[in-house]
Formats: sequence, C-alpha cells, structure tokens
Amino acid sequence: MSKLTSNLANIKNQIAACSPSNHNVQLLAVSKTKPLDMIREAYHSGQRLFGENYVQEAIEKIQSASDLTEIEWHLIGPLQSNKTKQVAEHFDWVQSIDRFKIAQRLNDQRPDNLPVLNVCIQVNISNEASKSGLTSEAVCELAAQISALPNLRLRGIMAIPAKTKDEQELDQAFSQLFEIYKNLQQEYSSVDTLSMGMSQDMAQAIKNGSTMVRIGSAIFGQRT
Ligand SMILES: *Cc1c(COP(=O)(O)O)cnc(C)c1O
Repeated sequence: MSKLTSNLANIKNQIAACSPSNHNVQLLAVSKTKPLDMIREAYHSGQRLFGENYVQEAIEKIQSASDLTEIEWHLIGPLQSNKTKQVAEHFDWVQSIDRFKIAQRLNDQRPDNLPVLNVCIQVNISNEASKSGLTSEAVCELAAQISALPNLRLRGIMAIPAKTKDEQELDQAFSQLFEIYKNLQQEYSSVDTLSMGMSQDMAQAIKNGSTMVRIGSAIFGQRT
C-alpha cells in the first residue's frame, strides 16, 4: 500500500473512532499545492471530496480531472469578485463565503446546466478582540440573504479557529461554532454541514460536533 493510501485509511479509522455512531463525519481531502497524480490516487482509493484554496490552480486540476466523474470540488480559500465566474462554472461547493456580494455574483454566474452551488458561510470565531470576522448576528443576516438566491443552497458554516495549543480554548471556539450551526439549522432545512477540523485538531472538532473535516497534510504530506 502506498503512503497516501495508508494515510487515507488511517484518517478514516481515526474519524470512525472519534465519531459517535449516529453521527456521520465527511472527509474533505485538501489537495492545494499537491499534484493531480495524488488526487487521482486518492480518488482511486475511494476518496470523492476534494478541497482547493487557489482558484487558478484548482481550475487547472478540475479540467484535467474531468474523467473522475464522481469527484466533488470544494473551494475553501478566499474568493475575490473577479474570480467568481470561474468558480461558479467549475466548483460544486464554496465554503468561504463571507459577504453578500460574492454570493450574489456566484448565483448570477452559475450556469443553467449545472445543479445549484452548495455554499457555507465562513465564520471567524476568535477570542482575540482584535480579530475581525462574521459575528453570529452577521451570519444570520448573510444566511437570510443567501437563502433567497435560487442558484445557491446554504449548507452551513466553515471555520478555521485561531491556532492555539490550549485545548480548552479550542473546545470553546468549536462549541461556539456548534451553537451557531445549530441555530442556523433550526431556521433553514438545507443546513447540514459544520465544516471544522484540520490535520492538527480533527479529533477535537469531531468531539464538538463537526460534520466535515478538512484534511491536507495528514493525507498528502507536508506542503513546501
Ligand atoms: C490548508 C487548509 C486545510 C488543511 O490543512 P492541514 O493542516 O494540512 O490539514 C483545511 N482548511 C483550510 C481552509 C485550509 O486552507
């Protein structure tokens, strides 16, 4: 078994080990900066969800991987308005929506022949007062605006908590996110995704209710 295949199997075992039995946690393989060969290998090992951060790099991979018919592409990096058209034309999900202008452009530019674009609102939760980000109220407002757009489907929230070695602080951030997610879920029946947890904090995120972990280096190796 190759290193990549065994890494994937390992991560899946870890997810199963820390998920409550009735709680399904999806694995998003974050392939930014990694070559298409590795994506193909992961796909052939059964992986279907892939996350990319940089639009140009991602579009090239998406076009070259058009033979992988069951693949699902998620944009998880920042999105500028001059790139929304390409994103609307090529991605299945955008997890990094942080303002209405971007959502509206994606809605308007989504081609008629494609299914709705799945989106998550990116929440910046942090205990540091200096950090900006969407507050819980801002999330509600943006969610209401997105839910009125016919070519988008609001699936939930995504977050990258500030780096910390303090487990309690991390638990606190994750549980705040879980609260925001639960509130949103009560309001919108399309909401089923709490995207949180990366290679370093996957277990803690799942313990706090994550439904999708985004794993890069633990699958594909360190990025240079
Ligand atoms: C790069 C990245 C990841 C994956 O990080 P790893 O630490 O390599 O698992 C997850 N989410 C986002 C938003 C990222 O940019």
